Amino acid sequence: MFSVTEIPTRTHPLQLREEFLTGHRCKISPERLSRGLDTVYSPPPAVPDCPFCRDRIFSVTPTFPDGKRICIGESVTFPNLFPFAEWHTVTVITKRHHAEEFSAAEIRDAMVSQIQSLADAEGYKSINWNYLPSAGASIAHPHLQGLADRRPPYTAEKYLIGGLRYLLKHGTRYWDDLVQQERESPRYLFGDELFWYAHHVPLGEREVRCIIPASCTEDFLPYLDSFVEGLLRILQFYRNLGTHAFNMSLFFDRSVNRNGFSAFCSVISRINPNASSTSDSAFMERLHGEPVILTLPEEFARNLRNGTRV
Ligand SMILES: [Zn+2]
Repeated sequence: MFSVTEIPTRTHPLQLREEFLTGHRCKISPERLSRGLDTVYSPPPAVPDCPFCRDRIFSVTPTFPDGKRICIGESVTFPNLFPFAEWHTVTVITKRHHAEEFSAAEIRDAMVSQIQSLADAEGYKSINWNYLPSAGASIAHPHLQGLADRRPPYTAEKYLIGGLRYLLKHGTRYWDDLVQQERESPRYLFGDELFWYAHHVPLGEREVRCIIPASCTEDFLPYLDSFVEGLLRILQFYRNLGTHAFNMSLFFDRSVNRNGFSAFCSVISRINPNASSTSDSAFMERLHGEPVILTLPEEFARNLRNGTRV
């Protein structure tokens, strides 16, 4: 399902990996970790007049056409004022402006709100999370973002088209074969019905994927509790490693399709917020489309399975 090519250098080991289904490539250079670019985590400073804090959220955020917002538990959901999709909703997860950790109930309520906010939308849906400014959160107050568009996100489209092509060629679902292979691999993390593993050709640092036995948002609800439990476990492990910022995307097929697609979640860790604006996205990630990864997926998975604290 992927190839590994060792690239000769005069100094440190370097791998080029390529995923056959999507053509996605990355480079893995474990020795770059020793440069220690990430800083020790410290919480971002409080910002006055946050639009997502309770004293402002119900006056400055927009409402849905019926004049309401969706409120489940502490979560509050409303349309994005500056959308970058045909449907773009925002779910503020908690009252707390800054949260180091989240309860399962908080994440579950927020996810249910997201699914509800996208229920009337057609097209391809995704639920997304940028946590902390260094991961791209323009408002630090923790929030999810739901998108729905008539065309799938670029990443999801690669798997939708590739997975269908795979099914026609092999007569088996790509996702079943992937799970079967990864279960026996050093990248397996945990889970069975929901399958968690360190992806073999990562999109970003310490990428974890969860393969879900559902294709669209409607089918996902029965698995939500199990999903939240797994996600919180991954985020705890990131924190154990000292890395707090992350991105998450959960990709779904259109409701009407039954092409053997499995919804999946991708989570990557990001550099901690830092005073010098050091970034973990440079020309390789932004222009070449070939991210430089520092952590070997097999090494990451071994540490997580062993419960290593760093
Ligand atoms: Zn706030």
